[in-house]
Amino acid sequence: MTSAAGVAVVGGGQAGYSVVSALRGAGYVGPVTLFADEPHLPYQRPPLSKNAHTEQDAVRVELVPESFYRERDIELRLGERVTALDTAAGAVVTGTGTRVPYGHLVLATGARNRRLPVPGAELAGVHALRSLDDALAIGRTLTTARDVVVVGGGFIGLELAQVARALGARVTVVELADRLLSRAVSAQLQEYLRERHERSGVRILTGVGVRGIEGNGRVERVATDQGVLPADLVVYGIGAVPRDELARAAGLAVEDGVVVDEQLRSVTDPRISAVGDCARHPHPHADGLVRLESVQNATDQGTLVGRRIAGSPAPYRSLPWFWSDQGAIKLQIAGLRTDTDEMLVVPGDSPERLAAYAFRDDRLVAVETLNWPAEHLAARRLLERSAPVSVADLAGSTLGALARARRSAEVRS
Ligand code: ADP
Repeated sequence: MTSAAGVAVVGGGQAGYSVVSALRGAGYVGPVTLFADEPHLPYQRPPLSKNAHTEQDAVRVELVPESFYRERDIELRLGERVTALDTAAGAVVTGTGTRVPYGHLVLATGARNRRLPVPGAELAGVHALRSLDDALAIGRTLTTARDVVVVGGGFIGLELAQVARALGARVTVVELADRLLSRAVSAQLQEYLRERHERSGVRILTGVGVRGIEGNGRVERVATDQGVLPADLVVYGIGAVPRDELARAAGLAVEDGVVVDEQLRSVTDPRISAVGDCARHPHPHADGLVRLESVQNATDQGTLVGRRIAGSPAPYRSLPWFWSDQGAIKLQIAGLRTDTDEMLVVPGDSPERLAAYAFRDDRLVAVETLNWPAEHLAARRLLERSAPVSVADLAGSTLGALARARRSAEVRS
């Protein structure tokens, strides 16, 4: 399929990059334009919270060099924010007042960090972490900071806490909920992870709220409802909200994310798709609509939409998977752990390893592993194929062993 007006993609993250890359990879020959409000080439976000970053790293996190886009005739409009959609005429309007017509529009606008709603959050030395610029700003003080306070015990907070700890800082994580990663992992893993972080020297405060951040121009202290913490750097990661305001202003269905169908088309306007963190979509592994914030989801959804526009439509069915590196801890998740009714926790063959298996109606639906990549991969393979695994199947076994046993049974029969 080609269209004189071509494809406009709004958002230069992993999802937007995957759309344009898949369009050309699948032979689409019409105009392709990628709008990104950040001045950088599309880059990888996962490394940003896993290391201290310096200006030299900016190139290292780029997904592909500038020549990739040039060679494929992909027009990059970096530093150009799309401010409105004219869905009747089929055009985007940018901050410079330019109108760019589209045959198909893809929203890959991602999510923005929730702001820390306390006085003093604007002081120097207080940072959210989402963009490369955030990571560079944090990197400038991280190596010299003595007292680091991390607000939010989610993925970003715990990853960054370990980076700061490895650099020798005193690190305190302040989490409002009673548990770490309360939204993201099973209760069994929350306890285990807490113990591991504490053993590495990170102080963890749960059920503690931040009242304010204090200092003379620059952060010096964090006031919590259980006392004051000295701080020369504060990083917060307290969750994100989808950037769906363009869609909402244009009258598209929006419900904490742009609502799309199984091919990731807006349910309101079939000339518009949404992918990645900003999309709320049906999924064969979920009962209702879901919105997923992960690299896997951004990549697979962007690729699916690029291929569809190029002429090969398919429903979105990719197995969700995720990872988080927290110092020496490698946490990996396969599948969706919603509405599970039984958990099985199995230690691995070394003390650092652990797997938590989640079941619904005696069928395996998700697996969380610590420092056990082989078991994570076995889980992905089995869940991708929808191979049934019951609690009894796993008694005294692992998915890796189970998969091997099943393969050799198939070979014999
Ligand atoms: P992120 O991607 O920012 O790491 P997560 O949802 O994984 O997002 O984690 C955010 C964490 O921040 C959750 O554990 C949540 O309970 C916690 N949180 C939310 N608001 C606050 C707050 N005001 N103070 C401290 N922790 C908070």
